[in-house]
Amino acid sequence: MRVRVQALGALSAALVGMVTLVSPSGAAPAGQRAPAERYTAGDPGAGDAYFPFAGNGGYDVRHYDLDITYTPPAPAPAPIVGQLSGVATIDLVATQDLDRFNLDLRGMRVQAITINGKGARAVSPPAPGAEVDGAAYWQVQDDAARIWELTIQPRPKIKKGQAARVVVAYGGETTRPRDIEGVLYGWVTTRDGAMVVGEPEGSMTWYPVSDHQTDKATYSFEITVPEGKVAVANGLPASEPVTQNGRTTWFWDAPDAQASYLTTASVGDYELRHSETPAGLPVIDAVDDNLTPGNAATTDASLALQADMIAFLEATFVPYPFNSYGSIVDDDTVGYALETQTRPVYSRVASEFTVVHELAHQWFGNAVSPGLWRDIWLNEGWATYVEWLWSEHSGDDSAQTLFDEVMEIPADDAFWDLTIADPGAFGLFLDPIYERGAATLHALRGKIGDDAFFAATRAWLTRHDDSTGTTEDFQAVCEEASGQDLDAFFDVWVRTPSKPTTW
Ligand SMILES: [Zn+2]
Repeated sequence: MRVRVQALGALSAALVGMVTLVSPSGAAPAGQRAPAERYTAGDPGAGDAYFPFAGNGGYDVRHYDLDITYTPPAPAPAPIVGQLSGVATIDLVATQDLDRFNLDLRGMRVQAITINGKGARAVSPPAPGAEVDGAAYWQVQDDAARIWELTIQPRPKIKKGQAARVVVAYGGETTRPRDIEGVLYGWVTTRDGAMVVGEPEGSMTWYPVSDHQTDKATYSFEITVPEGKVAVANGLPASEPVTQNGRTTWFWDAPDAQASYLTTASVGDYELRHSETPAGLPVIDAVDDNLTPGNAATTDASLALQADMIAFLEATFVPYPFNSYGSIVDDDTVGYALETQTRPVYSRVASEFTVVHELAHQWFGNAVSPGLWRDIWLNEGWATYVEWLWSEHSGDDSAQTLFDEVMEIPADDAFWDLTIADPGAFGLFLDPIYERGAATLHALRGKIGDDAFFAATRAWLTRHDDSTGTTEDFQAVCEEASGQDLDAFFDVWVRTPSKPTTW
C-alpha cells in the first residue's frame, strides 16, 4: 500500500479504551466450566492486538466461493450508494471442538445461514455466557467500538478436525467505508462501480470472512453486474462472462493461498487487456476508460514495464509466486494503490515506481504476509527497497544514494520517533514504515554482505511462502544466513524510536 496519512494519537487512545470494555472471549472463565464440556466458542479475534476483533479463532478457512450481485449507484446527483447481495460458501475445518464460532461482517445484513446444509435461525445477541437453543446466528454491529461480528452456533456442534461448509446469504447498501485512520477502504463504492481494497481489515465490508492474514484461503468468484460493467478479481478467469437479462456475470478463480486483505472484486468501466510475459505468465490489466489523457499515458507506459519488472525481481529473489498478474487502474478518488494479490489496484494513475512497489508486494506481503500487523514494515520496507533496487537497475539513483538521503534527515526530526516494528494501529502507513524500513534493509545488506543478505531473503521467501512471518522470524533467517548475532542491529533499526548511529 502507498498512502500518506497522519497518526491520530487521541483516537488511538480512545480505541484502546473502548476495546477494554469488551472481553475478547465472551465465554465464562474456564474454571466455571463443567469439566465434561469440551466444545467451546471460537475466539472473536485472531489475537492481533492492533485489531482485536479482526479474524477469528477455532477454525481454519480453506476456500471462499463468493457469488455477488452488485448494482452501482445511479448517475449524479443520486447519492454514491450501491446495492450488493451475496452468497458466500465457506469451507472450513475446525481447529477445536466448536460450540460457536464467528465470522467478521461489517454493514451487511445476514438473510440466511446453513451449516452442512442445515439451516440456522436468526436470534438477538444473547447475554455473555447465556445458552441459545438449537442452530442459530446473530450479528453485533458496533461502529463506535469497531466490532462487527457474526456469531454462528452450529448444531450439531463441529468436532476438531471436522470440515464444515457454511453458506451465508447476505446483502445491503454499499457506501464508502473508512479504516481506523479514516481512510477509504473495503468495498469503496464509486459512481461507476467499486474499488475494492481491504487492507488491513476491510474485506469484512463485502463478505463474511475471518479477516486476518493468519488464515489464508483460496477463492473463487461469480460477480454479476449491469451489462457493460467489468468485474475484475484475483487470479484468472474461470470461464467466459455470461450476459443475460441485462446483466453480466464474471467468473474468476484464485487458487493460491491468499490473505483476506488482498482480495478484490473491483467493478468499473474497464478495458481488459490480456498479454503474457516472455516466460509465459498470463497478465490481465483492467484500465478504466475514464482516466485523464495524461494519466492514461503514464499508466500505459508503466504497465508496459511490468514484464521487465517481473523478470528483474525473479532474477534478484525467487520465481514469481502466483499463477497470473496484472493491474486494475480505476478513475476513483481513493488516493492510494494496494497490492491485491495477483492484481494490484491503482487510484487514478499507475506510475512506474508505484507499479514496481505493488509488484514487489507479491513476494513481500502477499506470498509472505506479516504475522501480526505490527510487522507491517516487512511489507512496506521491502516494497520501498525494491523501488530503490529498480531505480539503480534503471540507471537512476542508486540504493546507496537513496539510503544516504534518508540518513540526511536530522536526528531530532520526528521521522525517527517511530518504532517501526511496533508502530501502533495508527502508524501502519506512516513514512518511516516505508523509508526507515527500506533503510533498515540497506543497512542490513551492508552489515552482513550481499551473499548473506540475498541468501537470507530467498530463505525468507521460501520458508514462509503461502504463510506469514514476523520480525523475529526475519531476524532468524538473517542470523542463520550470516552466522551473526543481529540482536543489536535489529534493536537499533526497528525497535528503538531514535536515529541509528552505530550498528
Ligand atoms: Zn506498499
